[in-house]
Amino acid sequence: MHLTSIDSLSDDQIERVLSEGLRWFDYNRQRRRNDHRLDGLTVINAFFENSTRTLLSFEIAANRLGAQVVTMQVEHSSIKKGETLDDTARTLNAMRPDALVIRHGTGGTPSEVAALMDCPVINAGDGTGEHPTQALLDAATLRRHFGRIEGLKVAICGDIRHSRVARSNRKLLERLGAEVRLAGPPSLLPEDADATDIDSAVAGADAVMMLRIQRERLADDLGDLPGEFLENYGLTAARFASAAPQAVIMHPGPINRGVEIEGALADDPERSLITRQVEMGVAVRMAVLDLLTADRRD
Ligand code: ASP
Repeated sequence: MHLTSIDSLSDDQIERVLSEGLRWFDYNRQRRRNDHRLDGLTVINAFFENSTRTLLSFEIAANRLGAQVVTMQVEHSSIKKGETLDDTARTLNAMRPDALVIRHGTGGTPSEVAALMDCPVINAGDGTGEHPTQALLDAATLRRHFGRIEGLKVAICGDIRHSRVARSNRKLLERLGAEVRLAGPPSLLPEDADATDIDSAVAGADAVMMLRIQRERLADDLGDLPGEFLENYGLTAARFASAAPQAVIMHPGPINRGVEIEGALADDPERSLITRQVEMGVAVRMAVLDLLTADRRD
């Protein structure tokens, strides 16, 4: 089994990842951690795009469960000598890994690589495609905070068009019964989305998820100055005041302070779940690695 999209998972598998993720979250807060169920397995991380949270949390998750973890140094690899991605995949496969975690700038790459591998492949972000483990960790964070997801109003705001986080989150949250509202500047909205303006999206929302402008995926600069973007499309304290009384703030990171979100809101100890999302990222990735490698451990 591979995890290339939220669609790769059945409802039961989603439930298992979320509930196990919550369990690993508590486990990770303990001082003694001695569950090494991935003992003897090898996990390869191959990240062809930059990453802090996703790469490190996959490394920690696999290590914490006892796997041997190897992170490919893409900058120093034979890709730089002209080797194709397919040949690289065949090379990695010949080393008999038990899981491959891949991030790539081109959408669809994890599925193409999965066709060449004998082990589970996990999509850690493919261009503007999907980022399924981010959506799973976001859903687990919401469930831990609210005790449920069904019926929550979740505003996802910013650069929706280029966001793999938005795409996976929308699929997952809607499957779990949340009301998803999308908002952003017209040029950063996908054609097929029912979108609204940010004020309507935030009003009464239980959770406001802000997204970074994916400048690396834009042909032209947007033109807006950071302050103007914040005022017109970002999360300001004034705007957030119209959300539900107990509303929370989320962001997959990295944050661009003063652009899509006011710095003080990101740091708000009562309202911001941003570092909690990072913590949940390790836990949910433990659950994902456990699920995907289960049949190799029988
Ligand atoms: N870290 C997330 C991603 O890789 C969001 C972002 O980069 O803005 O998609």
